[in-house]
Amino acid sequence: MNDFLKIENLNVTFGKDTVIKDFNLTIPENAITVFLGPSGSGKTTVLRSISGLNRYAKGRIFLDGQDISELPVHKRNIGVIFQSYALFPNMTVFDNVAYGLRAQKLSKDEIYQEVTTMLQLVNLESKANNYPDDLSGGQKQRVAIARSMVMKPKLLLLDEPLSALDAKIRVELREQIREYQQKLGITMIFVTHDQGEAMAIADNVVVISDGKIQQQGSPWDIYTKPVNEFMATFIGEHN
Ligand code: ADP
Repeated sequence: MNDFLKIENLNVTFGKDTVIKDFNLTIPENAITVFLGPSGSGKTTVLRSISGLNRYAKGRIFLDGQDISELPVHKRNIGVIFQSYALFPNMTVFDNVAYGLRAQKLSKDEIYQEVTTMLQLVNLESKANNYPDDLSGGQKQRVAIARSMVMKPKLLLLDEPLSALDAKIRVELREQIREYQQKLGITMIFVTHDQGEAMAIADNVVVISDGKIQQQGSPWDIYTKPVNEFMATFIGEHN
């Protein structure tokens, strides 16, 4: 396993509560790593520390060999997808996806090409001129994913991206995310509290509880070789 993303000694303290303590982790390139754990275990806090959104984070974070610990959010080359989509309601689907590209020095034609290619990938080319309100939840999330992927981030963070969706759409979209990952070769971290979802989408699972890593491994390893009592109980409860 290479160490495309490396977290060294991450500590996060809110007031007098240390919610992440001496957290060390490496994550492989071109794979989906899932952070799995109960609500309140610290998954989002670690994710926000990686993306630079958490100003209480202390420690070192390296992405593709570069120390990004001190870089502001917009210089980290990391995309973030939220449960709530966070689309711009007053912009068309096309303009939502084009938004980040417009800050770069690209011609109109280049922007058109990049956005269209991405809308084709997420199968929303026909909705380019619609507004977010015209779309279903699953479609909105695909726009949000397209908007992030068009920027070619080194790392894409997805924080409970499917939690607001119906069960059927959840399964469809998780398979589509897997397809996008494979087509584009993006490295992803996918946060969920849903064990079934984690096992279905992950190459690599990191189980987090109480701000600590309990176990990291393939879905098969996590299922069949629990390393401690917490893991045995955690897996057992869901079977
Ligand atoms: P998860 O994503 O696994 O549900 P979180 O990372 O959101 O867990 O939260 C981990 C712990 O940190 C929880 O106890 C939560 O209450 C606390 N926490 C998260 N963000 C803040 C904050 N901004 N201020 C104070 N406490 C926080």
